[in-house]
Amino acid sequence: MASSDEARGRPRTGLKEGGVKRAHPLHLTLFGPPGSGKGTQANYLVEHFGIPQVSTGDLFRGEIKTATELGQRVKGYLDRGDLVPDEITLDLVRRRLEQPDCAKGVLFDGFPRTVAQARELDRMLRQAGRRMDHVLFVRVPEETLVSRMAGRLTCPTCSRTYHPELAPPENDLVCDNDGTPLVQREDDRPETARRRIKVYMDQTLPVLEHYRGQGVVSDIDGVGTIEEVRDRILQAIENGGDPPHAPRGSEEGART
Ligand code: ADP
Ligand code: ADP
Repeated sequence: MASSDEARGRPRTGLKEGGVKRAHPLHLTLFGPPGSGKGTQANYLVEHFGIPQVSTGDLFRGEIKTATELGQRVKGYLDRGDLVPDEITLDLVRRRLEQPDCAKGVLFDGFPRTVAQARELDRMLRQAGRRMDHVLFVRVPEETLVSRMAGRLTCPTCSRTYHPELAPPENDLVCDNDGTPLVQREDDRPETARRRIKVYMDQTLPVLEHYRGQGVVSDIDGVGTIEEVRDRILQAIENGGDPPHAPRGSEEGART
């Protein structure tokens, strides 16, 4: 018999929306190339599930902005579009996961980005009696990614992103959330954006296989309105991931 959650169209495993108490903490990962809309979708998901977003990119930019020692160590990597070494990244995530708000679960955005990071995250979660519940793989073709990033406007206060044509703010060039003037990220220039996509293909895509083996991945078409993509993600979470080791064609095909 369907549980009352299923009957109401809510996700399974006792999850409830809006931060209502759940049977166990929820761990989700938004996985996809740079510019695929992970941060945009994270805004909805954190509200819907009442769990914090952990975006390693935002954490690094925060460290750079406040000129910490860590910020100085990682700046060159972000400027070039290269990945920050695993040890530094994992250290930052480990400390973030110790914060009390992560007790309810976490929405990871832009992490893990290497197989070594995924393995270590598995270990950290396992140690805490937890697991990765669901990986949402947001697929968008490369040319769309570059044009999204070329126009991306970012709020330096809350990290929300906009786009003049695709996702404009309500008032010209200030954040809807906190009124801060929006900025363009240096690493969103097309040359660096393309470099980041290449790094994603080489170093990050293999992470998907790691999670495919656990049967927790759902493929999401990331092309469409923000609301359409959001609904696809919520539906996928409700349906659960692929069965482990499900047969599939060549991994990422034409779509990044
Ligand atoms: P995007 O949202 O466009 O994918 P991010 O904000 O996630 O970009 O990441 C920006 C940069 O921060 C990356 O190009 C990389 O230098 C660094 N970074 C972010 N997350 C990680 C990670 N998990 N491992 C290593 N480097 C990372
Ligand atoms: P990521 O975090 O994956 O790098 P963002 O969420 O920052 O990506 O989105 C990249 C850019 O694309 C931003 O300018 C954002 O406003 C825009 N964007 C996000 N989702 C969509 C969508 N479904 N359609 C069109 N533009 C989008």
